[in-house]
Amino acid sequence: MLDFDLTEEQRLLEQSVHEWAAREVAPRIRELDRAHKFDPGILPQMAELGLLGVSVPTEYGGAGMDYICLGLASEELEYVDTSLRVILSVHVGLNSLTLLSWGTEDQKQRYLVPQAQGKKLATYGLTEPSAGSDARGIQTVAIKKGDRYELTGEKMWISLADVADNFLVFAWSDLEKKKQRDPSGMSAFIVERGFKGFSSGTLTEKWGILAGNTGHFKMDGVEVPAENLVGKEGEGFKIAMFALDQGRYTVAAGATGLIRACRDASVNYAKQRKAFGVEIGSHQLVKELIAQMESDYQASRLLWHRAGWLKNAGRRNTRETGLAKWFSTVASERAAGDAVQIHGANGYSDEYPVGRFYRNCKGAVIYEGTREIHKIMQADYLLGYRTDRPTRCDLPAWETR
Ligand SMILES: Cc1cc2nc3c(=O)[nH]c(=O)nc-3n(C[C@H](O)[C@H](O)[C@H](O)COP(=O)(O)OP(=O)(O)OC[C@H]3O[C@@H](n4cnc5c(N)ncnc54)[C@H](O)[C@@H]3O)c2cc1C
Repeated sequence: MLDFDLTEEQRLLEQSVHEWAAREVAPRIRELDRAHKFDPGILPQMAELGLLGVSVPTEYGGAGMDYICLGLASEELEYVDTSLRVILSVHVGLNSLTLLSWGTEDQKQRYLVPQAQGKKLATYGLTEPSAGSDARGIQTVAIKKGDRYELTGEKMWISLADVADNFLVFAWSDLEKKKQRDPSGMSAFIVERGFKGFSSGTLTEKWGILAGNTGHFKMDGVEVPAENLVGKEGEGFKIAMFALDQGRYTVAAGATGLIRACRDASVNYAKQRKAFGVEIGSHQLVKELIAQMESDYQASRLLWHRAGWLKNAGRRNTRETGLAKWFSTVASERAAGDAVQIHGANGYSDEYPVGRFYRNCKGAVIYEGTREIHKIMQADYLLGYRTDRPTRCDLPAWETR
């Protein structure tokens, strides 16, 4: 039986995140965005709401909520600003849920618990100056020396790079396989900001998600204890892809929230602004734009809900999550462009939020698999060029947890 009703817990979470973001962030977001300012004061409040460990089991310091709640929180956060949802994407989606699935008990105690409690902030470092979509092109290396690995390399375009405490980092641990671009030569590591040889910076030329921190970090012979190897040596590429299944899910749900924000702002404006003696909402071409936003919003919501339902059941969802991410981010770009159009010249000004939505939406069409990469993936599934093989570790089903 399909059930489109939210449970009491899901409804309460949705409402509390909506109200918190409207009360605490919405009144200040324009100023934070214009000042290019990431406000760390938001983090303890998100922790208080349980968001920084939303779908992490209570035994590991989380709120123990299901994966639909993770999606609902992402949608409500991005309804106000993309920068809020990005925190959830990297801290919970890409990092913490990966540790939950692939981490040792010791790693869970040392890293997952403080992250889920909101005492430490975490992110994910795959991209480098010369490699994004082509993850096998990364240059970072991890050389084993006794009971440690020495990591050297540079990561670029990393969300929260200059503010996070813990980093899930991908590097080549087999230099022969690096030469052959064989991904079974890559490994995943937990790196702490405090490790010697680690340095980071903020990207200052970025033109979207301005209330969020995006940066780079460098590892200059950083010594990482062998206990911080995530999974087995050689499983790094699989872990990086696994993490994207969770990150993309939050991006999909977040983009859905952005479409809704564009829709609501457009409906509001179309009823206030008059042209040719009538509200602009009376003009059929404006109605068309608003109707498209509604259809995109509803379709996006159904797609991420389906992915969340699969996650709750513990079923593989790489294909469905990818489709949700691709569809909703492309749709959010359309919605944001049309929202600016409906606002006319006012949409071209930061006095109204739609210009910020327009700048913010584009990132998600690029990160966690570009539009083109997702298009190719979906075609490859259909053509039989791509199938998902089982991974050694799965995201724990919520229903059986
Ligand atoms: C705001 C922001 C935050 C980010 N946060 C993180 C983060 O936290 N952690 C992290 O690791 N990374 C992060 N990234 C990086 C992001 O994941 C990469 O930018 C993304 O993977 C694309 O890589 P690229 O920029 O190197 O583009 P490229 O891979 O160089 O691609 C350039 C263009 O070529 C196209 N292209 C490439 N290959 C193909 C192909 N085979 N077929 C067709 N077209 C192709 C792409 O679609 C794109 O249009 C972030 C990026 C942004 C913008």
